[in-house]
Amino acid sequence: MGKSILERLEEDYPDLKFVAGKKFAFRPPRTIVFEEGSDSFDLLLLHEVGHALSGHKTFGMNIERLKMEVEAWGKARELADTYAVPFDEDVVESELDTYRNWVHQKSRCPKCGLTRFETPEGNYRCPQCDYFN
Ligand SMILES: [Zn+2]
Ligand SMILES: [Zn+2]
Repeated sequence: MGKSILERLEEDYPDLKFVAGKKFAFRPPRTIVFEEGSDSFDLLLLHEVGHALSGHKTFGMNIERLKMEVEAWGKARELADTYAVPFDEDVVESELDTYRNWVHQKSRCPKCGLTRFETPEGNYRCPQCDYFN
C-alpha cells in the first residue's frame, strides 16, 4: 500500500501542521485539524489545505466566509487532481449549503423579512427598517 494522503500532504507542505481533532477545521495561519475516520476524509482534508493555500486568515461567519469556502473548494479541486482523489460535487454542495443557509438566515431582516445588506464593517442593515423608520 502506498502512502496515505495525509502522509503525502505532510511531506509536500512541511510548513503546515496537521493535528487530529473532533472536526475538520483550518486554524489560521497553518494548522489543519482533521477528523479521523470521517466520511469523505480525503476531500475534506484537501478543502482545509485549500484554506491554508488561499492564505485565509480571519474566519468570521459572514458573506466573506462563504467566498472563502468557495475559494478553498476551488483549491481542493486542483489538489484532488494532483493527489488522484475523486472529487465528489455532492460533498462540496452539501458543505457549501451549510454556509449558504447561514448567510440567507442572517441576511433576512427579523422585522420585515427583506434581505438586508452587509456594511463594510460587517453589520447588517435592512433597506426598510434601518433607513425609513
Ligand atoms: Zn472551509
Ligand atoms: Zn426590515
